[in-house]
Amino acid sequence: MRCPICGSDYIEILKSKNESSKTQEIEKLILKCNDCETVFRKTLTHDKPTNFRVIISEHEKSKKDFIQIYPDEMLSVGDILKVGEENVKITSLENKRGARVNKTQAFNLVTIWASSQDIPARFGISIDYHGRVLSKKVDVERDFIITIGDVVKIEDVYFRINSLKTIERKMRKGFAVASVIKRVYGKPLPHKVPYRYDLTSNIVKSSD
Ligand SMILES: [Zn+2]
Repeated sequence: MRCPICGSDYIEILKSKNESSKTQEIEKLILKCNDCETVFRKTLTHDKPTNFRVIISEHEKSKKDFIQIYPDEMLSVGDILKVGEENVKITSLENKRGARVNKTQAFNLVTIWASSQDIPARFGISIDYHGRVLSKKVDVERDFIITIGDVVKIEDVYFRINSLKTIERKMRKGFAVASVIKRVYGKPLPHKVPYRYDLTSNIVKSSD
């Protein structure tokens, strides 16, 4: 804010009063310029937060909810929102023309697509027995680190991880956090070799 007389931005708020209409929050201010002593009034208005639809995916399932957002708020894919008690990450934004965009002000939106950040990460494991592939699904802590080369036990199978598929790429070396991993590929090992961790209790039951 600037003084209408001298243009200074050294402004002091003498008085502020908040009012509210059906769709707007109105802030009435009495201000004083500390450079030229002019006292002046200013009214600020903000659109009130309104309900936006959010579809939250939790692995294979999804649910519909609503979130209150200021219509002029800028939203981007990757932002974390709080829906009730749940932290969700925006995965896509659908605007009024039916297009999916990476960034928009809320008033353009029809639906916010998001994924829950409060549930474990889920990924597949494929262990290749020369063409016959054993597949499992596991849930682990989102920040659990999987490193290529790790020796893992799952039920009575021992295997070494030789590659990973993440949301963005295929990896043959290095490591990734579970929350970005889609699938882990392994080569079977002889029984009872020393292993780094056991994922048996993390197996997702097929009824899920
Ligand atoms: Zn002034």
